[in-house]
Amino acid sequence: MSSPSGTPPVSLAPHFTYEAGRLRVEGVALDELARTHGTPLFVYSQAAMLDALAAYQRGLAGRSHQICYAMKANSTLAILQTLARAGCGFDIVSGGELERALAAGADPTTIIFSGVGKTRAEMRRALDVGIGCFNVESRAELDVLDEVARGVGLRAPVSIRVNPNVDAKTHPYISTGLKGNKFGIAHEEVVATYRHAAACAGLRVVGIDCHIGSQITQADPYLDAMDRVLDLVQAIEAAGVPIQHIDFGGGLGIDYNGDTPPAADALWKRLLDKIDARGYGDRKIYLEPGRSLVGNAGVCITEVLYLKPGEQKNFLIVDAAMNDLPRPAMYQAFHQIVPLTPRPDTPTTWDVVGPVCESGDWLGRDRDLAVQAGDLLAVLSAGAYCMSMASNYNTRGRAAEVLVSGTTATPIRARESAMDQLRLENLLPPA
Ligand SMILES: *Cc1c(COP(=O)(O)O)cnc(C)c1O
Repeated sequence: MSSPSGTPPVSLAPHFTYEAGRLRVEGVALDELARTHGTPLFVYSQAAMLDALAAYQRGLAGRSHQICYAMKANSTLAILQTLARAGCGFDIVSGGELERALAAGADPTTIIFSGVGKTRAEMRRALDVGIGCFNVESRAELDVLDEVARGVGLRAPVSIRVNPNVDAKTHPYISTGLKGNKFGIAHEEVVATYRHAAACAGLRVVGIDCHIGSQITQADPYLDAMDRVLDLVQAIEAAGVPIQHIDFGGGLGIDYNGDTPPAADALWKRLLDKIDARGYGDRKIYLEPGRSLVGNAGVCITEVLYLKPGEQKNFLIVDAAMNDLPRPAMYQAFHQIVPLTPRPDTPTTWDVVGPVCESGDWLGRDRDLAVQAGDLLAVLSAGAYCMSMASNYNTRGRAAEVLVSGTTATPIRARESAMDQLRLENLLPPA
């Protein structure tokens, strides 16, 4: 925690600090990176990612476990490598993500394949490379996987994603663990589905899986889901189908704006006590954290292009946009926005917006900032669901990325050029 003088206190994530009036990540000043690599620029702290992973590893120490990073949060290869080298497996949701995990050097047996719409081709490729588990989300998918696996003479390792139907009233932020959404198999149908899976020659039942939602900031939803999942394990095993691993999904929140999610180590110590108390302490635990491993580790640096004061609103037009940072436009999400080198002047209230031709292209509303054109700003907590959701809307090239470790800054993705974008298209033949 530190704040630039002359501006309201800003809470910075670990490994980000103001020193001598400049915002730094680990041992590197961000304004220097912006000058070297241009903007918009994503910068990540490798130590922040490894610390976040270490908290999970501490919480599960001494237990048979596998942490599978849900790479849709940020699937840049160097980030996957960082986590794979530290012992992480991966939770993937597409064939493309499978190729990324393999390219980053992941051990295929530590990869689990989630998602409601796996294609036959994706299943075949995943079987071919020997992934650890398919998290199956419907009866129809189970049958197709059985057929595909038999077709290549293999048995697919499966876990069934159950929908624990955690109460929405108690847990308003939970959006995937409820009836009435497309994820998982309804509580009442779980035992019959496991019986069916166990009888399929192309399938090998290995586990059970749930994932109740995202940006969870309290322990209670996990505890409720856990009870329901353990009830199901009991019922499934009573029906004669052994369950080797229990996957509690991901979803632990991060600090965007004073949020206070539980620390992963404390949370998992508490949850494991519960699992022990219910007599399932001997099962292998799988977790699928995404946001909580990378979200607070990244920022997006953007340059102020124009100040546009108005009668009703003042607009600060910056060079990053909804194609780089889609969360505000998509979910009305809040990211803190801070200057890299704060000015002592009195701040003005601005709506921070990008150059894209959409009213929805905003990054922050009503932000008090003392800025001039040419100043550099950091959009905080931009490590998760930003670059991985970036698009080419308005034929804007996707941003460059830099990974910092100590005083070393490694470019891990080049800025996308217009030519990169045109490469896959064909002009019509001459008229
Ligand atoms: C997105 C997702 C996760 C990760 O969620 P976070 O909120 O980023 O931790 C884990 N498991 C599944 C199946 C997902 O779809």
